[in-house]
Amino acid sequence: HNHIDEATVAKVEAAIAAADTHAHLPEYESFATYDSEGGYSVLKDLRRTGDWEAVQEKLLSAGLRGLGGAGFPSGKKWGFVRSNEGPRYLAVNGDEGEPGTFKDRYYLERRPHLFLEGMLIAAWAVEAEKAFIYMRDEYPAVLEILRREIAALEQAGIVEAGYIDLRRGAGAYICGEESAMIESIEGKRGEPRHRPPFVAQVGIFGRPTLVHNVETLLWIARINREGPECLNSVEKNGRKGLRSYSVSGRVRQPGVHLLPAGSTILDVIEAAGGMLDGHSFKAYQPGGPSSGLLPAHMNDIPLDFDTLQPHGSFIGSAAVVVLSDQDSARDAALNMLRFFEDESCGQCTPCRVGCEKAVKLMQADKWDQSLLEELSAAMIDTSICGLGQAAPNPIRLTMKHFPEEI
Ligand code: SF4
Repeated sequence: HNHIDEATVAKVEAAIAAADTHAHLPEYESFATYDSEGGYSVLKDLRRTGDWEAVQEKLLSAGLRGLGGAGFPSGKKWGFVRSNEGPRYLAVNGDEGEPGTFKDRYYLERRPHLFLEGMLIAAWAVEAEKAFIYMRDEYPAVLEILRREIAALEQAGIVEAGYIDLRRGAGAYICGEESAMIESIEGKRGEPRHRPPFVAQVGIFGRPTLVHNVETLLWIARINREGPECLNSVEKNGRKGLRSYSVSGRVRQPGVHLLPAGSTILDVIEAAGGMLDGHSFKAYQPGGPSSGLLPAHMNDIPLDFDTLQPHGSFIGSAAVVVLSDQDSARDAALNMLRFFEDESCGQCTPCRVGCEKAVKLMQADKWDQSLLEELSAAMIDTSICGLGQAAPNPIRLTMKHFPEEI
């Protein structure tokens, strides 16, 4: 506000307000419906007589891991945050900027209260003074739903007015990185912090902060309402639990598909109605652009945490993109690097300059593979955060699996 004139600020704010009122709201489960079906009774019981360690035990036995991409065991996080003296905060990461990921939006536009109850259970467990929700501004319907339903919670006396602070992101991918998100919540430019200290120790305004992804909180509510069996009773290919795959690309039914965590790409394609007519399966992005591209013949790997690492990839937020014989792996990889070049926060040189340099090298008719490999190694070793460290994955995997295209 110091550098922008008042008239411009007023114009921008009016445009934002107009955009908000035009949000098309989908049919979703209201507070009244959720409440009439026993909603918030778990939270009320826990607040009365609950033992946070018993709830933590349930999460651990369910095998719940953070579903924003990092996959850290959710129950353990509670213990870390609690081991630091209060006041403590809770922050919900709803930035969902990973290309191809739309599961949080899918759930929030349907069952916002399942998420809100999960959030309040987590806030109770770490005795959070305040809960911040950092929500992607490109989801106007979700923002409007949350505004309405938080007001309903305040009216019903489930939370005090102002306890839940709904913040809007401003379209920066890097603000989905938890420490950059915290900087942004504090009103600063969203740049990742060096760690240690971890946000569980030094988070929002220097206080211990519990950060959870939207879907993780939804599962925290379900595990408490239905028992850990809702996750740990599902087993496939030696993997336990369920994953919400956001599926797009050359499939008949793109969308969110909830499948066993041990599902392979062939299971995911089948759940998405199979390949589009006239397209044959060529390659896939298993978990956002940071996970790069794998060829179709690597089709028996369970798409879960830890299973893709030996192949130089990872599941991340489970954003699966299916490519066909009509797509170019080389173009897809270049597109991924262009995205990282745009979204690099610019704080550290290996990522800021490395992404730009990689794009130039990848535009050449013939890739200079040894130079690209050297650049990749430098970026992986010396970038501050996951963006710069993972950006070389599409380069390396394309060189390895699609040599004929480069
Ligand atoms: Fe910013 Fe990239 Fe460095 Fe991360 S790796 S801090 S995004 S410049």
